[in-house]
Amino acid sequence: MKQKLVIIGAGMASGRVIEHLLETCPEAYDITVFNAEPRGNYNRIMLSPVLSGDKTYEEIVTHSDDWYKENAVTCRFGEKVLRIDRQAKQVEGEKGRVAYDKLIVAGGSTPFIIPLPGHDLEGVIAYRDLEDTQRMMTMTKGNRVVVIGGGLLGLEAAAGMAARGAEVTVVHIMGHLMERQLDEAAGYLLKKSLEAKGITVRLSANSKQILGADGRVRALQLEDGTELPCDLLVMAVGIRPNTALAKDAGLAVGRGVHVDDKMVTSDGDVLAVGECVEHDGAIFGLVAPLYDQARVAAQTLLGQEAAFVQKTLSTKLKVTGCDLFSAGDFAGVEGREDIVYRDPARGVYKRLVIEGDRLVGCVMYGDTADGNWFFGLIRDRTSIEEMRDTLIFGPAYQGGAQSDPLSAVAALPPEAENCGCNGIFKGTIVQEIEGGQMRWGAWRPHQVERALPGCPRRAGPLSDLLSVAMADGIIRGQIADYPVTQEGGRSLLDGAALSNRSAA
Ligand SMILES: Cc1cc2nc3c(=O)[nH]c(=O)nc-3n(C[C@H](O)[C@H](O)[C@H](O)COP(=O)(O)OP(=O)(O)OC[C@H]3O[C@@H](n4cnc5c(N)ncnc54)[C@H](O)[C@@H]3O)c2cc1C
Repeated sequence: MKQKLVIIGAGMASGRVIEHLLETCPEAYDITVFNAEPRGNYNRIMLSPVLSGDKTYEEIVTHSDDWYKENAVTCRFGEKVLRIDRQAKQVEGEKGRVAYDKLIVAGGSTPFIIPLPGHDLEGVIAYRDLEDTQRMMTMTKGNRVVVIGGGLLGLEAAAGMAARGAEVTVVHIMGHLMERQLDEAAGYLLKKSLEAKGITVRLSANSKQILGADGRVRALQLEDGTELPCDLLVMAVGIRPNTALAKDAGLAVGRGVHVDDKMVTSDGDVLAVGECVEHDGAIFGLVAPLYDQARVAAQTLLGQEAAFVQKTLSTKLKVTGCDLFSAGDFAGVEGREDIVYRDPARGVYKRLVIEGDRLVGCVMYGDTADGNWFFGLIRDRTSIEEMRDTLIFGPAYQGGAQSDPLSAVAALPPEAENCGCNGIFKGTIVQEIEGGQMRWGAWRPHQVERALPGCPRRAGPLSDLLSVAMADGIIRGQIADYPVTQEGGRSLLDGAALSNRSAA
């Protein structure tokens, strides 16, 4: 008989758990999913392209109503879970109780709102979900917006609204933008790029209070007395894991819900995944580790041996024209050396941080094509002793090869990931190309789109491999099955430019 699995939260992490369960053993569980948002799972990462007008919401839905129906998943969307009753093994939703054999807590996190005077005025919002995005989409020409926070989310929000014609000011407390991912030099180049888009950036700026009129936001006042008038104020200053339900239920909770390597909480029948968890002292804010957690949780639920391992992460910003990449640890501590490449005329900056014979960090701006390769060296702790002199020039220059872009692809190991958030590996692509059968159906639309020539976020290895395969005619015959748009399919065909397959 099927066991009852209840999931709190239909987000990016739990969506992957369900997929793994259905792919591996669809008969194992009757699944019920609660979601506070009035909808199922969508690709939250892609809210920024929706905001900037590059995508529609429909294009970023990962699990449609039909998908849930076809897979017999019971949906309680728009219904918040109020309580977990561990003794009765039930969860209490706003519309009633549901019993579970196994429970997954996957409620994500909540944006932090700085408790400034005026933070509760109408027109002060965070950036987390579709509603926030839709609100920002109303800001166009003639509107003024202030964004507090010069991190990844704040800058994507700012760029999206600026692209819609709004007059945007970013207020950041630190001396340079994205200080957790970028060093000062890269932060400076990023600021210049944003200013070129018409965005005003105020650094080392302390917010004092939010001023209102008739209950609505009117301006942000800084500590130095400056008033920045605005119709909307977006706070993007960090997130806090949602732990309240777990804590009230008596589960072990620290900064997040405590889980072991199998993603099991302090109660053997309750698992947790996603931004709400704390594993080995760490909490999470990017999807790559959440997908690993999801796979491990599904395996645990199926009685298989699996363990979640934390890995080095990389970051990109989804703002067209602001090409940056950062990975690892680039703090300037004693015993570390930097290799720096600057080309001010092209706006290119690359910094590699080396400790002993290992690359430990990398920051790139303007030309990030080799980012994944450097990331692989950091993650795999590869010795760079032999290539130290030419390391900064990337994989194309290793082993005496010339700057043929395909030699960069050839240099990647099979486990090289195409991009930190999509879990597509070089080895898989090569296998599929060599087998003459690209399994498009197994890819999510955005994964395919990332691979398209011309996509601003396309990542090198996958694109180059596909270009090679296209030129060989391997993929052409399968375009009919292409799961995105006809437009996308055409650009895939138009991009068939490379002809040297041997490098792959
Ligand atoms: C605009 C934006 C851009 C981003 N860009 C990137 C990026 O480029 N790269 C990257 O790696 N990461 C990015 N992230 C972060 C990434 O989206 C998150 O790490 C990821 O979505 C977290 O997944 P999750 O499943 O833990 O939580 P979520 O996806 O937030 O899902 C949690 C769900 O649980 C629901 N919920 C909460 N409490 C309850 C309750 N009591 N009852 C029922 N349901 C509940 C919530 O409504 C929500 O739908 C971005 C995030 C945002 C907001």
